Parts: sequence; C-alpha cells; structure tokens
Amino acid sequence: MGSQTNRQLFRDAQSLIPGGVNSPVRAFQAVGGDPYFVVRGEGAHVYDAEGRKYIDLVQSYGAVIVGHAHPQVTEAIQKAAALGTSFGAPTPGEIFLAEEIVNRVPGIEQLRLVNSGTEATMSAIRLARGHTGRNRVIKFSGCYHGHADTLLAAGGSGVATLGLSGSAGVPPSAVADTIVVPYNAVPEITQDDACVIVEPVAANMGLIAPLEGFLPQLRSACDAAGTLLIFDEVITGFRLARGGASEWFGVTPDIACFGKVIGGGLPIGAFGGSEEIMSTLAPVGPVYQAGTLSGNPLATAAGCAALQLLDSAAYQKLYAMTERLSAGIEKVLNGAGLPAIAPRVGSLLGLFLGDNAPTQYDEARTTDEKAYARFFHEMLDRGVAMAPGAYEALFVGLAHTEDVVDTVIGAAAESAASL
Ligand SMILES: *Cc1c(COP(=O)(O)O)cnc(C)c1O
Repeated sequence: MGSQTNRQLFRDAQSLIPGGVNSPVRAFQAVGGDPYFVVRGEGAHVYDAEGRKYIDLVQSYGAVIVGHAHPQVTEAIQKAAALGTSFGAPTPGEIFLAEEIVNRVPGIEQLRLVNSGTEATMSAIRLARGHTGRNRVIKFSGCYHGHADTLLAAGGSGVATLGLSGSAGVPPSAVADTIVVPYNAVPEITQDDACVIVEPVAANMGLIAPLEGFLPQLRSACDAAGTLLIFDEVITGFRLARGGASEWFGVTPDIACFGKVIGGGLPIGAFGGSEEIMSTLAPVGPVYQAGTLSGNPLATAAGCAALQLLDSAAYQKLYAMTERLSAGIEKVLNGAGLPAIAPRVGSLLGLFLGDNAPTQYDEARTTDEKAYARFFHEMLDRGVAMAPGAYEALFVGLAHTEDVVDTVIGAAAESAASL
C-alpha cells in the first residue's frame, strides 16, 4: 500500500467501491483529476499516499474542528477503546455528552444520539410528524439535510455538485409531502405542515447567511400554524458559537439536529428539543427510533474531548482566523481579476466566484464552477486542499494558526495570478 500512487489507489478503489469513494463528492468529478488518498492527518494538515502535505480546509467537512489527531481526542478514544467498543447497553459516556450539549444549546432539554447527521434529520422529521400528527415537511432549496429519501429533494452539497435535482431511487411518493421553497423567504405555513427544516446558515450551497429577520419570522410563522421549526445544525452546531446558531441568532427551534463537530471526528449525530417533544420518542412515546451503535462509547468520548476544547477563547480564535482568511482570499482573488466573494458568518466561510453574493440557491448556482475547478487544482498543486466542489464551505479549525492562514492566502494569490 505504502508505495502506491494516488492514481493506483483510485483505480483499485474504483474496482471495489462505486466510483472509488464512499461519499460522491470525494471522487473529484466536479473538479476533475484523481483524489488524493489520505494516510495521515495532524492538526491543520493532511498527508497523502505519495507523501505530499496539504493544508486541509476540508477538515472532514467541519467534523474535525479541533484539528486532526488532536492528542486529547486521540487519548480519549484510546482509553475508551481499551474498555470495549460497543455493548448494546447504556453507558455513562452518553450522559456526559448529552449533558455537554444540553448545557450549551438553548432550548434543548433532552436529546437522542444517533450515528450520522442523516439519521438525526431523518429521525427529527419522523418525530415532528409523530408529534403533530401532520405529514407535510417544508424544506429550502439548496439546503442539504443528509440523504434520507424525504429530504433528498433539491438538496445542496454533493447533490448540487453533481447537478442532480434529487436522486434516482427516491419514488415520488417519498417526497410527495415535501414542499421545497426558496431560502431566505418565509413561505406560507399552514396547519397541514408538520415542520419546517432549515440550515440556519446555509452551508451546502456555498455559504449563505440568513437575511435579517428571516429566522425570527420563520419562528413566528411556525408558531402561528402550530408547525415545528427544525434547525439543522449539523454544520453550524458548536462551530458558529458555543450554543450554535440558536445562540448566535437568538432564535430557538423546536428540534435541533447535530452531527459533525459533536463526534470529534467519529461517526455520530444527535437531535434534541424540549422534554415534551422528545417524550414522543419510544420507549416513552409512540415514535420509533433506534440504533445498534447509537451512543457508541468511542464517539461519545471523542465528542466530549472535542467539546471541552471549544471554550470561549477557542471561538474567538476561530472567528479571527476565519475573518483573516475571508478578507485575504477576497483581496487576492479580486486583485488578480477573479471576481470572488468569501462570505463569512462567525467561523463559517464560503467562496463564491462571481460579483454578487447569493441569497438563495438559484443565485448560488451562478458561481463560476469552471473557474472554481481550475482554482481548486492550482491550490492543490500549492499544497492547499479545499473541498472538491464549488458548493461546499471552507473549514477553518483550531489548528489553523495565523501562519497557516497566511500560507493559504499566499497560495491563493499565486493560484489566481496563474489562472
Ligand atoms: C453533513 C450534513 C448533514 C448530513 O450529515 P451526515 O453525517 O453526512 O449524514 C446534514 N445536514 C447538514 C447541514 C450537513 O452539513
């Protein structure tokens, strides 16, 4: 294995795994070329099979916010692993992680742990339907909520990258009760609607901030109709602020979904809300939801270790580094005649190649995908790994120091100049 090139590995992978990858965007279809195969990560860097070192702006799409192989996270995982990896019985670690989350996020009194963001949103939808006795779900175009059938209509992320409006294999009946509306406009909400699910900051169609008033008005409209508001905080949770987007915007949803950051890089998800709503779940209530590996001791240990590193000083650092990168990239790209906007909300960052910052999906799709693909490869050649798709966010973590950020900006200047 050790001496194989990325190309050889990709060929081997393609013979065994569809497209050579276990999540479509990783196959580089949107940018062309062969993906780099990672053999190791440390802090802000990853190393590929050919021994090349990259500054990593993917960071497992935000999951590894404290940096790769952080010693405290690694130690927590090793200690947990030595005690056994899964039991099918409750463990104290589940209480520790639940407590961390409940203490930080406004409005969460109880939560349930699952194994991915997809499971969290899928379960939240079932809970909302079971709790309200209604079927209809409203989602926003370009928001990505994982790959559950019901939510795979007009999704962002890999769905946007591949130019798919949904997916084959999702029967019309599965999305018959899913209404898709434009982001940043409050839709009509009626007593037929079980829930509205939204990314409080859209981070899967590039990065789009909610317009002033959008989230509070959505909250009131949901209240007026008795419809549950679901925040998909799988990216924003514990990244935007200690208490996620609910804290940042001062708007409390009925149900919040988490993933990515809360597992410290291990597979996990969670959804939570008031005790009254969460009591609708089995075994207390009638909505079934379960998981053999849910509350896994390795994932809860890693998640607790990661969250403990995310104190208020950590967030200040994340905001400062994200601002530095946003301003730097905009300056050097525009300076080189490549129109670019690097929208930032707190520690969330996007890159839009065009003149006007988008506010919804149709506008986001005017980003210059071809220019992104060329810029991506110029950056990769200079040792900076961005997501291989024009609609993904850029992820800055605690290991991204000023030096690292300035190196990225320098690479961006050279890349833009050579286009
Ligand atoms: C990544 C993501 C998901 C899906 O999480 P998985 O762990 O990939 O299943 C859901 N919602 C949002 C906002 C995401 O960014």
